[in-house]
Amino acid sequence: MKLAARVEQVPQSVTLAISAKAKAMKAEGLDVLNFSVGEPDFDTPQHIVAAAKKALDEGKTRYGPAAGEPKLRELIARSLTQEVGINYSAENIIVTNGGKHSLSELMMAIIEAGDEVIIPSPYWLSYPEMVKLADGTPVIVPTDAATEYKITPELLRQAITPKTKLFVLNSPSNPTGMVYTPDELKALAQVVVESGILVVSDEIYSQILYDGAQHLSIAATHPEVHKQTLISSGFAKSFAMTGWRLGYLAGDKTIIGAMTRIQSHSTSNVCTFAQYGAIAALEGPLDCVETMRQAFAERRKVMYELLNAIPGISCVKPYGAFYMYVNIGKIGLGSVGFCNALLEEKQMAAVPGLAFGTDDHIRLSYATSLKNIETGLKRLEEFVEGRL
Ligand code: PLP
Repeated sequence: MKLAARVEQVPQSVTLAISAKAKAMKAEGLDVLNFSVGEPDFDTPQHIVAAAKKALDEGKTRYGPAAGEPKLRELIARSLTQEVGINYSAENIIVTNGGKHSLSELMMAIIEAGDEVIIPSPYWLSYPEMVKLADGTPVIVPTDAATEYKITPELLRQAITPKTKLFVLNSPSNPTGMVYTPDELKALAQVVVESGILVVSDEIYSQILYDGAQHLSIAATHPEVHKQTLISSGFAKSFAMTGWRLGYLAGDKTIIGAMTRIQSHSTSNVCTFAQYGAIAALEGPLDCVETMRQAFAERRKVMYELLNAIPGISCVKPYGAFYMYVNIGKIGLGSVGFCNALLEEKQMAAVPGLAFGTDDHIRLSYATSLKNIETGLKRLEEFVEGRL
């Protein structure tokens, strides 16, 4: 059977084989330590679960408006208005089935064949594939440890052509954990305004920050840039709600309207009672978010210290999210070879950097217990030692 050409350009996930192997080894009874997960290892806070259960009991089980429950859209608009300092209203917001859905729907709404989308690398692995599925052309801009894996205004300017439609910015970043400073964002915003391109700011990790790092949306850094900025975020990471599938996108109401049209003919509204959980999340209390952040902060400290004590590998200190992006280039196996051997020999699962655009790195998630981190980093040390 002939599949559509658009699918042919999207490769199998390089992480799939490794996670399948890790699962099979675990099923055989092996003590596999999993550092590949991209989700908090906490349960959704109880008051959020209770709100969704109550909504079910109250019969909130029917179709709702495609763009989301009006109350949820209003709450998101209100919280963004406070955070960004620009007036957002409900019509600037669409509630989606997760941050991933927000981004892919945005691409479908604005990208046409021939349009270029600038993506700094290392990147979250779905960005280029979403662009391709929307018939666009991903323009990958490599960055390295010298700029803490952040795109500079010069690099952005050089990448812009008359075909550029969109620039994808992700802070805090998956996979590197880097957080752009206000000055860095201001300088990027200047280029965005001068060139007239759109920017989508993926802020899904905005509440998971360390050592006093502050989140600032690029939308807030220049008097004009908010008109060209789409903010993508969601509930998965900060509220431990990955399986609920709840995200949102905020920005220009024409774009939100276009996405709503697509959504109304594809998924329709996000699960109605799940949206009541999101309403409870936004209405608070927020101490659950802080409790999880503090647990990540402690794990980050331990993992960073242990990692940096291992000769032959290196890592730039992350200030957000829950990942460390480790340079394993000196070991000479390539990222897939490294992760396969690490899994086979030390029963430790990590994600190859190839998935994020850089083959000399691996990504370790610290959304796992301190005990696992201590045991895992010992295994990693032994693995690397044997190869230097
Ligand atoms: N953006 C980034 C950078 C992510 O890491 C993820 C999930 O891993 C998402 C978006 C999508 O999140 P979700 O679709 O679960 O809301």
